[in-house]
Amino acid sequence: MISENGLREELALCTRIFAMQGMIGVFGHVSVYQPETKTVFITPGMGSDKATLRPDQMVPTDLKGNAIAGTEGPPVEWPIHTALHGARSDALAVAHLHTPHATLFAIAKREFRPVTLQGAIFNEGVPLYPEAQLITNPERGDALLKVIGNKRAALLRGHGIVVVGQNLQEVLYTALVLEDDTKKTLQAASLGEVGTISNQDCRAFGAEIALERRAQRAWNYFASLEARWDRQPGTGRSELFP
Ligand SMILES: [Zn+2]
Repeated sequence: MISENGLREELALCTRIFAMQGMIGVFGHVSVYQPETKTVFITPGMGSDKATLRPDQMVPTDLKGNAIAGTEGPPVEWPIHTALHGARSDALAVAHLHTPHATLFAIAKREFRPVTLQGAIFNEGVPLYPEAQLITNPERGDALLKVIGNKRAALLRGHGIVVVGQNLQEVLYTALVLEDDTKKTLQAASLGEVGTISNQDCRAFGAEIALERRAQRAWNYFASLEARWDRQPGTGRSELFP
């Protein structure tokens, strides 16, 4: 079992890296779940400065969104996190982000398909939560669960994305890949028709098998950049696959 302090440190670091990458700002939140104690640790809500988050600022809650300690409650869309942590044993970490490029696929009437080999982890698809609404109660959390099924991510109509993973390393990596693949799709479209990676080629690449190793290496790389980041928006950031 990872200690509470360990989870708080990883959650703060993961969120600071998302901030460095321009993937989280005034909106968005990230959580990690400790199943042994049924405790959710979630980043503070709208307006908190994600670039400077410290482990002691993380908000612990139960699976009903009740704050366990401290005076600050969780972000209003806490049911995104509690629904997934409560229902899926493979959803120990969850990010809800309004990233610039992936969110376009929640706006355009166009299905997401991987366009790079790294994107093959999304071979099973990224389903769309069709209602243009915030997920602020458990009923909407349950509706999101039905949409996402056993997939690793979902799009929220006119809103943003949700990414789940076995740990924060996986959530960081897969969110970076989803943002990178959607950005490349948009850029490639200016050259003409976009070629997507077939189901067969996705499976042959075996991205799933190597996911743990890739996620850990990406985590180490971005953690090292974050350690020397000057905390100013737009600096320090790195392309995932330059
Ligand atoms: Zn949101």
